Amino acid sequence: MEKKIRIAIQKSGRLHDDSMKLLKECGIDAGNSRNQLRVAAANFPAEIFFLRDDDIPEYVQDGVADIGFVGENVVLEKNKDVSIVEKLGFGKCRLSIAVPANKKIGSVSELEGKKIATSYPAILSGYLERLKIKAEIHTISGSVEIAPKIGLADAICDLVSSGNTLFSNELAELEPILQSEAVVISNPQLPVALQEILDKLLFRIQSVKLSRNNKYVLLNAPNHRIKSICALLPGMRSPTVLPLAEPGWSSVHSVINEADFWNIIEQLKKEGAEGILIIPIEKMIL
Ligand code: ATP
Ligand code: MG
Repeated sequence: MEKKIRIAIQKSGRLHDDSMKLLKECGIDAGNSRNQLRVAAANFPAEIFFLRDDDIPEYVQDGVADIGFVGENVVLEKNKDVSIVEKLGFGKCRLSIAVPANKKIGSVSELEGKKIATSYPAILSGYLERLKIKAEIHTISGSVEIAPKIGLADAICDLVSSGNTLFSNELAELEPILQSEAVVISNPQLPVALQEILDKLLFRIQSVKLSRNNKYVLLNAPNHRIKSICALLPGMRSPTVLPLAEPGWSSVHSVINEADFWNIIEQLKKEGAEGILIIPIEKMIL
């Protein structure tokens, strides 16, 4: 029988939809699987397991699943024997210490002797130890942000993305202690046949990530400006320049990175580029 890689993803929650979307963009169709714990992919040698995110590192360590998509924060907290093999670019957040906004505590050193509520005791205690701060860690599994209000703690250490939850609970962020995003973890001792399947999957994931971060740009330029316009455009090798039917004009094709996007577009306009079209890239193979 053909070997299949067992991929653990979050059953429901913040990482579920993006994980499914990524698999789909990698050509792996897990169907509509909300009510199942396990599905076989239609067109890739993979089985998908739907689990609670907290359980994924242990299952991957123990070989119940071969790989998993999970937040780096969970991987570090659980400290299991798994390898992080790829960052996924979604589920971005930070683990931060926050205090009541009326600010009796103004810096991390003032946490000495205080009580901090968190679902991340391992990461928090490591951080406090490094700073030689002795505080009492109170571990709770959810609704951490209400702990100071009900007198359970002086501060919290919890995940933040926009900061809205902190704000609406009258908390102020004091210090981020970890930046996190979703990652692929792997059992460190995958058999060769499964490692080959993982390598294929990682190749597809990297192509999808590249295409998400880049845009295809098409523009018209007067010939005497082509040189300065091409200098602004990186392209895969160099921009493609094709003559237009209208004399004195060319069409320039290139690929630009999302991060530099608006900056480059402004400069292109200044250099006389016209009819600029920005086109999403479906996949990008270098
Ligand atoms: P499960 O039921 O699977 O245990 P959960 O309630 O523990 O789910 P979610 O709230 O769905 O977890 O969050 C899953 C992951 O999403 C987090 O571990 C983190 O990596 C990421 N994440 C991104 N932004 C945030 C945020 N603002 N708050 C919490 N988690 C976030
Ligand atoms: Mg969880």
